[in-house]
Amino acid sequence: MPRNPRYDILFEPVRIGPVTAPNRFYQVPHCSGLPVRFQESWVRMRELKAEGGWGVVNTEYCTIHPSSDDSPWVLATLWDDRDVPLLARMAERVHAHGSLAGVELWHGGMEARNMVSREVPLSPSGGPTHHVWPQHSRAMDKADIKAMVGWQAAAARRAVRAGYDIVYCYAGHRYLPFQFISRRFNRRSDEYGGSLANRVRLLREMIEATKEAVGGRAAVAVRLAVDELVGPDGVAAGDEGREIVAMLAELPDLWDVNISYVENDSMSARFSEEGFQERYVAMVKGLTTKPVVGVGRFTSPDVMVSQVKRGVLDLIGAARPSIADPFLPLKIREGREDEIRECIGCNICRAHYNLSTPIRCTQNPTMGEEHRRGWHPERVAPARAGTGEPVLVIGGGPAGLECAMTLGRRGLRVLLAEARRELGGRATLESRLPGLSTWARVRDYREGQIGRLANVEVFRESRLAVGDVAELGARHIMVATGARWRRDGTGYNAIHPVIDPATANLSTPDDILAGRLPEAHDVTLYDDDQFYMGGVIAELLASAGRAVTFVTPALEVSPWTQLTDEQMRVQRRLLALGVRIHTGHGLASYDGATVRVADIYAGRPLEIATGHLVLVGAREPETALARDLLAAQAAGLLPDVGSIRAIGDCEAPGAIYSAVFSGHRAARELGEEPDPHGIGFQREDV
Ligand code: ADP
Ligand code: SF4
Repeated sequence: MPRNPRYDILFEPVRIGPVTAPNRFYQVPHCSGLPVRFQESWVRMRELKAEGGWGVVNTEYCTIHPSSDDSPWVLATLWDDRDVPLLARMAERVHAHGSLAGVELWHGGMEARNMVSREVPLSPSGGPTHHVWPQHSRAMDKADIKAMVGWQAAAARRAVRAGYDIVYCYAGHRYLPFQFISRRFNRRSDEYGGSLANRVRLLREMIEATKEAVGGRAAVAVRLAVDELVGPDGVAAGDEGREIVAMLAELPDLWDVNISYVENDSMSARFSEEGFQERYVAMVKGLTTKPVVGVGRFTSPDVMVSQVKRGVLDLIGAARPSIADPFLPLKIREGREDEIRECIGCNICRAHYNLSTPIRCTQNPTMGEEHRRGWHPERVAPARAGTGEPVLVIGGGPAGLECAMTLGRRGLRVLLAEARRELGGRATLESRLPGLSTWARVRDYREGQIGRLANVEVFRESRLAVGDVAELGARHIMVATGARWRRDGTGYNAIHPVIDPATANLSTPDDILAGRLPEAHDVTLYDDDQFYMGGVIAELLASAGRAVTFVTPALEVSPWTQLTDEQMRVQRRLLALGVRIHTGHGLASYDGATVRVADIYAGRPLEIATGHLVLVGAREPETALARDLLAAQAAGLLPDVGSIRAIGDCEAPGAIYSAVFSGHRAARELGEEPDPHGIGFQREDV
């Protein structure tokens, strides 16, 4: 398909100081949990972004000195010349596709944990650190400041030697130069403290030193947080944020604008819309003639065009959209924008960074697997001759859809049977909950792709039993029948059942997802799942006028949403809706009218009179059909069937990203020889 001329503007080259980006698609720096530990995985992942059409591909944060070591988090490093070859490998592979390579030089100051280097964290004025336990930072003296500028310059010189086209001065996300800028961290009385000009001095010196170091061979970018979202105590866009940009407007070659800290910048879809940083980015654009890059989970080419045309930004910055679809620019260029695998804003990618593990993505199961499993985000090897077909996929949730789509792309004939009229399973159901409408994109992308594959036949409203399967003549069966929520009080805290599932006035998320809200006014929600579901249902019930009491054995509401950078907002929202919260209490009993809980420390009991209890706890895989099929096969009743495999939540309940991964993996592995080492992927950390 030819490109829609409406999108031509996105493919205009953009001059950035001494270099030129081939188009406006700019993969901003984002964490991956890969660089120094899983080196080829890292290089390949970045290379594929360039292959997918991103005109600029950046590293993640790249430490410039051992006093800024973020272990156990995995990041890039330019401490000395021995770091150059790995960085050079990435730049070379990005260049091979005609894109520019950028490196985000980083000093974390009091945010740097220094767990490996054991250096004392540095900061403008000393005081407790944020993450280094239990350790104060040391106030930098003039010699430290001079040294810091020198480290930046030395790293910039190495970056140029490694072939980078864009070199960053990183003053976003509460890192060292930003700690100097914000009054919240800078209490100095010398020329680096006090007035805003003094607080900006370090950043200015860094920019000047970086420009001198790169000597016109690379562009110098500034990543600046223009608002901390803490009001007048910190940097605010309408106040100091604006003044800082005005002071430095023409000094860098590029402005990369965001808001601080990461939980504001990478806000999930539950708490922000596409393009939510527009007013901050537009403010910068109005103050400089230099190109401006902004982010905002952009996945719609129309929104991108509108941002450029309205003069909000010059370059479409993307971290998550480039993770969910490394080929997003190419799809727009080739008139295939309806094939974009849109980011759903779930922040599972962030969660894996926060867990200090390699990156994962709900929408893109190949993310982080490009090298070690050899998975290309867009291409899959055709099935070997003799693999056997048709393949029957039972269940059209995230696992079944991904599996059927990938099998279809491998050229196999696929029959996909789904009990309901609608496809998408839990992704469809959960997308009706507050803030989760983007979850439907998990279904939409796959349903759209399957619709183009003549070899994949979809049977809706087809709940299969063993007898039906025998008639279909399938050679392989993937069972993707999902899971249901348990009604007995088990969860991450309670391993054994606590209450009788037949108790009156009792629901689970399955009832809520089916649209059966409790009629009672007073509702207690007991959350021992501890991820997003309990908080979302509490929000739904409170918004529907119920008086909600939220009880959890955890020490805060939805603690696992710490990993997705949402926890503060989740708890704040429930408080704003008037939800009563009891943390640290485990479920003891429920008789249909009174919930008895006990605090997890001393067992002190608490009784809550309630009209209804919603239990959000463990899930039970729907294994009955898989079990029956295996029994029928063993009894010789399915003579044509070569393999039966449970995938997704049916194999073991988990988050949606795990189901997508499971479906993808099963489809790729069908008919292939298993890894002779019995590992399943190439090891890099031996
Ligand atoms: P997952 O996340 O593993 O994909 P879901 O629960 O989202 O799991 O999806 C499972 C899907 O399987 C649901 O859409 C459900 O309707 C469907 N399903 C369950 N049992 C059957 C069956 N026997 N025949 C066809 N579809 C089924
Ligand atoms: Fe988007 Fe979720 Fe993928 Fe992150 S994990 S890129 S938020 S879909």
